[in-house]
Amino acid sequence: MKKKIGIIGGGASGMVCAIVAAQGGCDVTLIEKNKKLGRKILATGNGRCNITNVDIGEHYYHGHHLSLVKETLKHFSKHHVENFFAKLGLDLVCIEDGRMFPMSLQSSSVVAFLEDALLQNGVKIKVDSNVKSLKYFSDKFIVLTDKEELFFDKVVISSGSLAMPSLGSSSDGYSFAKSFGHKIYPAFPSLVQLVSDEKLLKRVSGVKIDAILSAYVEKNLINEIRGDLLFTDYGLSGLAILDISRGVVYGLSQGKSCVIKIDLLPDISISSLKKLLQKKSQQFSSKKPALWLNGILHQKLVYFILEKTNLSHVLKLQTKHLHALAYMIKNLSITIVDSRGAKGAEVMAGGISCDEIDRKTFMSKLQKDLYFTGEVLDVDGDRGGYNLHFAWASGYLAGKHLLMK
Ligand SMILES: Cc1cc2nc3c(=O)[nH]c(=O)nc-3n(C[C@H](O)[C@H](O)[C@H](O)COP(=O)(O)OP(=O)(O)OC[C@H]3O[C@@H](n4cnc5c(N)ncnc54)[C@H](O)[C@@H]3O)c2cc1C
Repeated sequence: MKKKIGIIGGGASGMVCAIVAAQGGCDVTLIEKNKKLGRKILATGNGRCNITNVDIGEHYYHGHHLSLVKETLKHFSKHHVENFFAKLGLDLVCIEDGRMFPMSLQSSSVVAFLEDALLQNGVKIKVDSNVKSLKYFSDKFIVLTDKEELFFDKVVISSGSLAMPSLGSSSDGYSFAKSFGHKIYPAFPSLVQLVSDEKLLKRVSGVKIDAILSAYVEKNLINEIRGDLLFTDYGLSGLAILDISRGVVYGLSQGKSCVIKIDLLPDISISSLKKLLQKKSQQFSSKKPALWLNGILHQKLVYFILEKTNLSHVLKLQTKHLHALAYMIKNLSITIVDSRGAKGAEVMAGGISCDEIDRKTFMSKLQKDLYFTGEVLDVDGDRGGYNLHFAWASGYLAGKHLLMK
């Protein structure tokens, strides 16, 4: 008789796991609380779905026990992602910094091809079904949804993390895992915007620049990144902020002080900037500094920097003032007090401890025939396709193992 498999969560890892297990002949039921499968996939990569990366490596991932990631990447590379989707009919392209996308550049095509493969392989799909509890009794798993009771020989928990609850995310996977004795590392947001209590920030809201960001936790430099920075009325956003956010949010969760230092003009050294400011102040000695500074910096940033240096009312800038301005432009310090939380995060760090999960099969070491895949595990990746890569990889490898016994 066919093994009955229940998969909780119709997202990235759950759908791949269901397809692979069904292709191998299992009787698979995929249970999703949203009315549609793959809602989060639709939102990925700004609607384009950054599916994987040409450069996949363990060092792009974070968590307490990364040997599971190392083993996973050994068996599931970016070629496996390409082959898997090519077999479904979807080709990939690399369009920027090694990031790979569906050729259509539409996340919806990824979901459409996954759904088609689920149907072609006879997966029973139960959408609009919220799993309320999971129990094991007499060699069977009992899954209770808000509609019915279901019985399975094996269960895969692919219910993701709490990141962006508006897309259906939940922490249910952690509760189910806990009930089987699993250890959960506290979840915290990553790839997320940062909140500051700096009142003047409202004045520069909407300004987007290329900057070098240095993150300090308790005055120790923990990361430095160059990229897009967007000032907002609540704090800092932009791709470089998402990239640097993980360590800052972790620091905040430990009650530590966090500061982002911003180099607003990364292509000019501080000594050259001092000379440039000196030259401009002499050339335009009869004009207000706010005017000639606008030839160097965005107007809103000029007012912001003048306020921060207490120079907004000084008409004739002396050398010491110019040096203070140059320093501020190269080292603007913004104190961070919070993040935008799970509702703004692309992923959650933390989750189910990987040292209680078999590295090759994704089966629980504590409960026979119970599996975990994707973001519900204590694995989070950098931006660039790494999170989806792990979701596909873990779903695929767990799916293959479901066929074995
Ligand atoms: C805005 C945004 C953009 C992103 N962009 C990228 C990107 O471009 N590249 C990249 O690599 N990563 C990206 N990510 C991260 C990536 O989407 C996730 O890491 C990945 O989807 C995780 O896959 P998963 O299968 O573990 O979980 P999910 O894809 O989140 O799927 C989990 C599913 O389980 C369902 N579920 C939860 N609880 C229950 C329950 N009790 N009963 C039934 N169903 C339940 C949820 O509704 C959900 O559909 C992005 C994330 C966000 C939020």
